[in-house]
Amino acid sequence: MSAREGAEAYHPANGRTGAMAWRDDFEAFWRAYPRKVGKLAAERAYGKARKLATAEELLAGVARYRKPSYADWCHPTTWLNQGRWLDEPGTAAPAPWVCSHTPHCAGRNACRVLVSLGR
Ligand SMILES: [Zn+2]
Repeated sequence: MSAREGAEAYHPANGRTGAMAWRDDFEAFWRAYPRKVGKLAAERAYGKARKLATAEELLAGVARYRKPSYADWCHPTTWLNQGRWLDEPGTAAPAPWVCSHTPHCAGRNACRVLVSLGR
């Protein structure tokens, strides 16, 4: 490859409208996302995610995803690849129903009634 070809392969002036137009958006996402691991992979995943969602939707997703501790945040690449910005906190699975009665209750509500009766 000649120097001229190399220069042509890189178009900083076209970055705004080209495939990397989201690069600044990614930096904003990266600042917002507390678990900063695997940035290059995250950047690639971000580029793919931007085909499905806007920068605002992704940032809103981060805000919704808020986890109490650092360790609860999944890797940003995973978060992006799995479309986690679509997660809704209210739809998390309820705590599993554990029945300690014998025989087991027919349902969660019946179980709750027994427990409320002290059995
Ligand atoms: Zn029960």
